[in-house]
Amino acid sequence: MQDQDNEINFSFSDLALSPQLLQAIREIGYETPSPIQAASIPPLLEGHDLLGQAQTGTGKTAAFALPILNNIDTSRREPQALVLTPTRELALQVAEAFQSYARHLPDFHILPIYGGQGMDTQLRQLRRGVHVIVGTPGRVMDHMRRGTLTLAGLTTLVLDEADEMLKMGFIDDVEWILEQSPPERQIALFSATLPEVIRKVARRHLRDPKEAKIENKTVTVEAISQRYWPVTGTNKLDALTRILEVEDFDAMLIFVRTKIATEELAEKLEARGYSAGALNGDMSQALREKTVERLKKKSLDIVVATDVAARGLDVDRISHVVNYDIPYDTEAYIHRIGRTGRAGRKGHAILFVAPRERRMLGAIEKATRHRIREMHLPTREDIAERRVEQFKELVMTTLEAEELSFYREFVQKLGKEQNLAPLDIASALTYLAQKDRPLIPVEKNVHSEHYDDGRDSRRRAERNDRPDRGERPDRGGERRERPPRDRERDREFDASGTLYRIEVGRNDGVAPKDIVGAIANEAGISGKSIGHIKIYDEFCTVGLPADIPEQTLKRMERIFIMGKPINIRLWTGEPPPATYAKRRTYPPKRED
Ligand code: AMP
Repeated sequence: MQDQDNEINFSFSDLALSPQLLQAIREIGYETPSPIQAASIPPLLEGHDLLGQAQTGTGKTAAFALPILNNIDTSRREPQALVLTPTRELALQVAEAFQSYARHLPDFHILPIYGGQGMDTQLRQLRRGVHVIVGTPGRVMDHMRRGTLTLAGLTTLVLDEADEMLKMGFIDDVEWILEQSPPERQIALFSATLPEVIRKVARRHLRDPKEAKIENKTVTVEAISQRYWPVTGTNKLDALTRILEVEDFDAMLIFVRTKIATEELAEKLEARGYSAGALNGDMSQALREKTVERLKKKSLDIVVATDVAARGLDVDRISHVVNYDIPYDTEAYIHRIGRTGRAGRKGHAILFVAPRERRMLGAIEKATRHRIREMHLPTREDIAERRVEQFKELVMTTLEAEELSFYREFVQKLGKEQNLAPLDIASALTYLAQKDRPLIPVEKNVHSEHYDDGRDSRRRAERNDRPDRGERPDRGGERRERPPRDRERDREFDASGTLYRIEVGRNDGVAPKDIVGAIANEAGISGKSIGHIKIYDEFCTVGLPADIPEQTLKRMERIFIMGKPINIRLWTGEPPPATYAKRRTYPPKRED
């Protein structure tokens, strides 16, 4: 397969965007403009009308939001841009994206308006003055007819997902709104497909539009088996963890969209016992080379990368590519999966697809001329089976390769002294050996719901009310292996846990109860959300849920235990504590 380098030869800073927007983009972590952004932002900034053929997931929101924000005059308190979307969900998403890009524009106001939401709130906010309106055509029309929204000051109008608006029967409303808007306004029309009716709207209302289209070249990818997992219920991190447990991989390359995500995900995988590293454009060339070298030399098994950083990556042992975040176009997908199946080996590609990204899945199938099979997440039974298999292998290789006469004697003595059957001793030792990776895995929870800092109680209540948050922990199937409290803790930690380090240790005379007590009382995290605590001479490690709110973490930084500030921080870099080291080098075949 040919490498399809969809080269974008300029960066965001080459676009004529204001420093405030560039700073926001930097903070959000985008590396380069996506193809639709590269094609749309310059003509929109120059004031041209635009006909953009792009679907969700291509980065089209930023393609129109950034030029609009660049040209907004915040001192003028009237709607200067209107974005029409087919659904309320999309209106909210677009409004959220605007907010995030506008984080350094003081006094910027955007208002989503859609049917089903009380008119009063919308009216109040409209009266207060907003700069951008994002709404569904019906409700926008209502406000215009009532005179509560005028488009006299409008400079840009965006039709987002025009083909969807057509499908939903909004096209007459859209045309009516277009006709009421000032004739000199700029129009950007985005649509995944361009049926004749949409072309007609474009011909009637757009003036000499520039066209932005993403070419979808086709390639063959015979050496790569492709599967997708529809993102539902279980969160992506849990899904990935399950896949990692069962999939027979040598090395894995995981793609995410932002530099920040490369680091966050690599850290989370590290905390779960995998040797994972990040690869992104913010890292120096030397550091990037070192990471690739470590992957080649097997001191890393997983690399979490952005598209740009993984360009041209050529490591034969990459057996799996996981598209944790869907790529923005088919070319990026083809480039990504081309990192596996190299040197005549078989490769595997897995794609996570959220419901709103289904169209991209179709486009990818077309471009690769392959049907992508849906995959099912490994079940608890699959994981149990795999762990048992690996454990058996470990026992067999240990019996074969190690000198065990001392241990045989020890077991014999123990049996005699305590009047125990060898089977009982072996059972206890099996349990101990697999304590951190039980042969019957504890059910994975989705996200911890046990914070108690008051501020989060509303969020928690919402989560609890939601019926589709994935599986609930099922305690019925667990064995009575240990006291319920410990089991509970492990479940929490296994579920969404992250390992933290605190600067108080055995030398300070600390006991686990001091740590649990202090964290529970002072940070408001319930005791059962606190995972394993390991005490070392100088410090301790504590498993805590991964989604601790910023605020709570801040509060935890100020906690004192045994008269010392605990200075809590993520466990990174340092050699892992024994239990995790054990997991990391497991299964045994990866030790070589
Ligand atoms: P959209 O197609 O606008 O719905 O965007 C899809 C996702 O891509 C969103 O999560 C954006 O935050 C993200 N995104 C947009 N542009 C970029 C970019 N240049 N680099 C990385 N991620 C991006």
